[in-house]
Amino acid sequence: MRSVDVVIVGAGAAGLMCAIEAGKRGRKVVVLEHAERIGKKIAISGGGRCNFTNVNTSADNFISSNPHFCKSALARYTPADFISLVEKHGIAYHEKKLGQLFCDDSSRRIIEMLLTECSEAGAVISCRSLVRSVARKDYGKGKTHFQVATDDVTFVVESLVVATGGLSIPPLGATDFGYRLARQFELGIQEPRPALVPFTLSRPAQRELTTLSGISIDASVSCLGKEFRENILITHRGLSGPAILQISTYWLPGEIVTINLLPDHDAFNLLRAHENKEIELANFLSQFLPRRFAHAWCALNFPSQPLKRYTPRQLAEIAEKLNRWEVIPAGTEGYKKAEVTAGGVATDELSSQSMEVKSVPGLYFIGEVVDVTGKLGGYNFQWAWASGYAAGQSV
Ligand SMILES: Cc1cc2nc3c(=O)[nH]c(=O)nc-3n(C[C@H](O)[C@H](O)[C@H](O)COP(=O)(O)OP(=O)(O)OC[C@H]3O[C@@H](n4cnc5c(N)ncnc54)[C@H](O)[C@@H]3O)c2cc1C
Repeated sequence: MRSVDVVIVGAGAAGLMCAIEAGKRGRKVVVLEHAERIGKKIAISGGGRCNFTNVNTSADNFISSNPHFCKSALARYTPADFISLVEKHGIAYHEKKLGQLFCDDSSRRIIEMLLTECSEAGAVISCRSLVRSVARKDYGKGKTHFQVATDDVTFVVESLVVATGGLSIPPLGATDFGYRLARQFELGIQEPRPALVPFTLSRPAQRELTTLSGISIDASVSCLGKEFRENILITHRGLSGPAILQISTYWLPGEIVTINLLPDHDAFNLLRAHENKEIELANFLSQFLPRRFAHAWCALNFPSQPLKRYTPRQLAEIAEKLNRWEVIPAGTEGYKKAEVTAGGVATDELSSQSMEVKSVPGLYFIGEVVDVTGKLGGYNFQWAWASGYAAGQSV
C-alpha cells in the first residue's frame, strides 16, 4: 500500500493539467497512464500542430445536456491563461482561422511543456500502469479513502481523479474505464457516441460520388436546426471536412443533412440572370465552384449544355440541387475516426466548480469523459485544460 494525496487516472490533456495544479498546491500527486507514453492524442492533434485553444471560447461552443455546466470552469481558466503558459515556455504559435491557435512547429512542444510543468510541480507520472480496481473505504468520522490497485501497487488516496477521455481512436489508448467507474458508483451517464466524425454513404451513393472524391469545397451544411459554413470534403466512403465533422455532432441516424453548395448565392436567381447565355452549365458553375467539381457534378446530375437550352423548370431543379443537396448518411465512421466522444458522465452528478462527484466526495471526473463536448477548433482542449484546472484547485 502506498499513500499519496491524489491519484489521477489518465495522462492526457485534462489529467496533466490537473496534476500540475494539484502539485503546485503541495499535493502529493501520482498520474497513472496505461499507455507506454503520455499525450498520444495531443501528439497527433491538429494535424501534428495541436490546435491547443480557441480565443473565442464560450459556453456556446459546447454541447452538453446542461449547457450552463461548463461556464464556471471555462471562466476560471481561460484561453488567455493557457496562452500565457505557452508563451512562458517560448512556444511559437499562430492563429489559423476563426480564433484557432496552433503551434508553429509541433504538438510535441505542448507535451514537453506539460511534462516540465508536472516535474516542477512534483507530480509523478507512471506509464504502463493499468488500474485493476477501485474501492471506497470508510475510515469512520466521515473520512473516506479510495484504494486504487494497479498490477504492481495499491494506492490509498483521498482524491481520485478520472481523466481517461472518451472512446475515440482506440489505438491511441482509449478505454471505457471512466464510464465503468461511473457505473460502479451508480452515476448517470449520457450515452456516449462518436462525434466530429466523417459520414459514410450507402454503396450506390458512394459509387455515384466516386468522380467527386478528393474534392473540397466551401459549403453550408445543416441538420436538425444547426448550420455550419466551412469546407466539406468528398471522400471515397462518404463526406468529411470541417463542416461535416461539426454537423456530425448533432446528426441522428436517419436524419437528412442538407448541403448548400453555393451558400453566397440564390442559385435560381443566378441561373435565371444568365438563362439566355451560350455558356455551358459546367463552365458557368466553375466560376463559383472548383472546376473539377463543377464538371463532375454536372456529369452526375444534369448533362452540361448551354444555359439557354434549359427550361425554367430545369433551371429550378438545378438550383434546388445546388442550394439544397439532401443527403441521408448511412452512418458515421465511428470511434475509429471520431475526433471526440459526445455524451459521458452526467453533469448533474458533478459540481461545476470542482468537477467533484456530489454523492462521492473525493471522486472527480474531468475532460472528455464528462458530458461536455466542444465544437471543432480547439474547444475540446480548452475544456480539458479548464476542467483539469478546476479539479486541480480542489483535490
Ligand atoms: C485525431 C484527433 C485530433 C484532435 N485534434 C484536436 C485539436 O487540434 N484541438 C482540440 O481541441 N481537440 C482535438 N482533439 C480532441 C482532444 O484531443 C480531446 O478532446 C482531448 O485530448 C481530451 O483530453 P482528455 O485528457 O480528457 O482525454 P485524452 O487526451 O484522451 O487522455 C486520456 C488518457 O487516459 C489514458 N487512459 C485511458 N484509459 C485508461 C486506463 N484505464 N488507465 C490508465 N490510463 C488510461 C489514455 O491512454 C490517455 O492518455 C483531437 C482528437 C483526435 C482523436
